[in-house]
Amino acid sequence: MTRITVLGATGSIGQNTLDLVARDPARFDVVALTGGRNIAQLASDACKFRAQLAVTAHDDLLDDLRAALAGSGVEAAAGQAALIDAASRPADWTMSAIVGAAGLAPGLKALEQGGTLALANKESLVTAGPLVMETARKHGARIMPVDSEHSAVFQALVGEDMAAVERIIITASGGPFRDWPRSRLATATVAQASAHPNWAMGQRITIDSASLFNKALEVIETKEFFGISPQDIEVLVHPDSLVHALVGFRDGALMAHIGPHDMRHAIGYALNWPDRAALPVARLDLAQVGSLTFEAPDHARFPALRLAGEVMARGGLAGAVFNAAKERALDGFLEGRIGFLQMANTVEEVLSRIYPDNGLIDAGFSLDTVARADHVARVTADQVMMDAAAPHS
Ligand code: NDP
Repeated sequence: MTRITVLGATGSIGQNTLDLVARDPARFDVVALTGGRNIAQLASDACKFRAQLAVTAHDDLLDDLRAALAGSGVEAAAGQAALIDAASRPADWTMSAIVGAAGLAPGLKALEQGGTLALANKESLVTAGPLVMETARKHGARIMPVDSEHSAVFQALVGEDMAAVERIIITASGGPFRDWPRSRLATATVAQASAHPNWAMGQRITIDSASLFNKALEVIETKEFFGISPQDIEVLVHPDSLVHALVGFRDGALMAHIGPHDMRHAIGYALNWPDRAALPVARLDLAQVGSLTFEAPDHARFPALRLAGEVMARGGLAGAVFNAAKERALDGFLEGRIGFLQMANTVEEVLSRIYPDNGLIDAGFSLDTVARADHVARVTADQVMMDAAAPHS
């Protein structure tokens, strides 16, 4: 039996993970499931999978969770310490699928147990890549990438020597606004930004896909996970979202990974590795697909990729600053405080206000220093958004 824990079980990745687990129940022993506000889903899955422990991130929802689990024998807990407790219970395989910087600490705790961490939470590598990789090394843990692009690169690299890799190309669908002129982008609504043309995902990553911030995070994730120089990472817009990534080798060959838009492929690969088990994903009929299209990203309309380049050049805790500023700007957009284009403006302004003077930002990597950089960036982002909203004299 494989002991598994799912952090962020009630979300899009968490539910896709449990879908795979449900198809082979005899193989898995579910240790802990965690969620946020969706108590009904968390409790129903905890009962269905006979989890030892169910945790909500929110203290105020503990009574609701207890009530929903009454008589089931599943332990209920709430809050940050309980999330860490869930991640520290012995498990062979843990899915890290909490959204945002909140996923870092539980993911690190799971790595300290030495099992496999299936990493969907890209923010962990963006905010604290060196800390995450070092924690895995130190505890003999394995990280399996779950982002579809990184899973694709991982698969294209099987049996290859990293020294022979010239470049890694990750693809971007371009999101719902790929063809929109800048003037129209200024009017984009939350509902429009939440409608991804190809992938069904959580709302935050979907909006990040529309702004290309998701791709910006993934470029940094690529650098941290595969240890490749930023100048050897390329982004290619591919509206079909069928080629997830390509690896270019020094002999000129490009190995592409092609598959349907279904996260159960990357999750299943991470769950079954090193085997390839049968997965319930559609089989592509390429004759039916007919053609695949590619184009270069437009940096003028979507500045997020350029900002990621600046963040990688700066190094240190700049990733934590970048991610936190982006998370706050996204909150601002969701709450109607700023427009779509102002998200990138806000992040850029936060970077320029914080650097180069803020000494604490270049302190080394620990959960504390990352949290402080994250906090400074959030406060600065709020200030930037307030300044932008203030009437000009
Ligand atoms: P969702 O928003 O669908 O789910 C997020 C999960 O995290 C939910 O279980 C949610 O609980 C929980 N959660 C939210 N806030 C907190 C918090 N502060 N503390 C603890 N738990 C919290 O996100 P996705 O599943 O789409 O994405 C999860 C991660 O995977 C993200 O990092 C994303 O970038 C990455 N990813 C997602 C892909 C996708 O296809 N969805 C593809 C590749 C990567 P609740 O819903 O109960 O409130």
